[in-house]
Amino acid sequence: MQVLVYGAGQLAQMMYLAGVPLGIDVQAVDVGSETVVHPVSKQPLDMSLMQAIEAADALTVEFEHVPEHLLEEAAKSGKLMPGIETILVGADRVREKHLLDTLKVANCPHQVVTDLAQLDDCVATLGERLIIKASRDGYDGYGQWRLTDASALEALKAQLSSLDLTAVPLVVEQMLDFDRELSIIGIRSKSGEIKVYPLAENLHHQGQLHVSVAPATDISDELTEQAQQIFTTLAEGMDYVGVLAVELFQCGDKLLVNELAPRVHNSGHWTLTGAITSQFDNHLRAVCGLPLGDTVELGPSAMVNVIGCTGFSRDLLSIPGCHLHWYGKTVRGKRKMGHINVTADSYQELGNKLAELAQTLPEEAFPKLAKEAKRLQ
Ligand code: ATP
Ligand code: MG
Ligand code: MG
Repeated sequence: MQVLVYGAGQLAQMMYLAGVPLGIDVQAVDVGSETVVHPVSKQPLDMSLMQAIEAADALTVEFEHVPEHLLEEAAKSGKLMPGIETILVGADRVREKHLLDTLKVANCPHQVVTDLAQLDDCVATLGERLIIKASRDGYDGYGQWRLTDASALEALKAQLSSLDLTAVPLVVEQMLDFDRELSIIGIRSKSGEIKVYPLAENLHHQGQLHVSVAPATDISDELTEQAQQIFTTLAEGMDYVGVLAVELFQCGDKLLVNELAPRVHNSGHWTLTGAITSQFDNHLRAVCGLPLGDTVELGPSAMVNVIGCTGFSRDLLSIPGCHLHWYGKTVRGKRKMGHINVTADSYQELGNKLAELAQTLPEEAFPKLAKEAKRLQ
């Protein structure tokens, strides 16, 4: 079988690796050059995009910001999973909020802004602590601005004045004082079967995911049920096929959806070593119409992102249950270079292993690690 993935980054690479034992050949589309490439070497393959589309059993995406004309061409084949509407929801915060509201899924209080003068009304209704997000093309916290004090509003407007808000509106959200960030990742098959992984707890730093722990600690049955209900409502509401990730804010005993990712997700990388079936394996199974694999965890796991950093000793591999997954990219700014997965038999042991790991890594690149280790110990 063949699967064509739009996007040629680390997620396509990890899908490729998951495809090998399944006998599924994964090819990637470099969406900039519109060429078909090998997902690991990124070298062009000897076929046109049209030939690759025709040869594939399924087409899918590794990121939501695929140019629309490519998505339309892919959708015409009838093999794009998830569907184009769903991918466009993930790529556009205005559509995303509309879907959440239509399906009555709790999310962050927000307003859509197409004219900077509307920001005054946002402050009046949502308060003076706001997160302002470009509706398109943002990721890892890029394309976001913060207002923490109404007196800074005019300066913020000046900063945003060059944006064309009729082309790309802003979504203005109330800055929530949440207890923590969680995510639920699951899979829906072509026949409508749904499986979900345990909730992951995600630690962000400057808008970027640094550490995930799964299963998240201190999760009540009610919270699990709430998350599963949210996932089911969204997956069924979109007639979704494949892996879907839902980012959540926990506020007391209530979950609010932050955003959706219509694809495999960074907060699910722990499943590579920490669950019976990885998210990449399950995504391929779903889009190829194969039976889904078990999503049960093997024990407590952590995933640590390696961000903008290459200089550390590979001796960390001597920590039992510690795995490195390197993406083979050149270092640039705060780019995700790889991740480290750690598995253990208990949270305390996981904490001990993370503490050991923190000692081998430069603290400035891993600012959340030592504190998280301590919490678990
Ligand atoms: P991703 O890389 O996950 O796609 P993104 O650029 O799309 O990131 P968001 O997930 O919307 O951005 O926001 C990034 C982070 O900023 C969140 O994980 C959270 O830590 C913080 N954040 C976003 N929205 C809010 C909010 N309304 N209130 C408080 N914090 C928020
Ligand atoms: Mg996002
Ligand atoms: Mg996010």
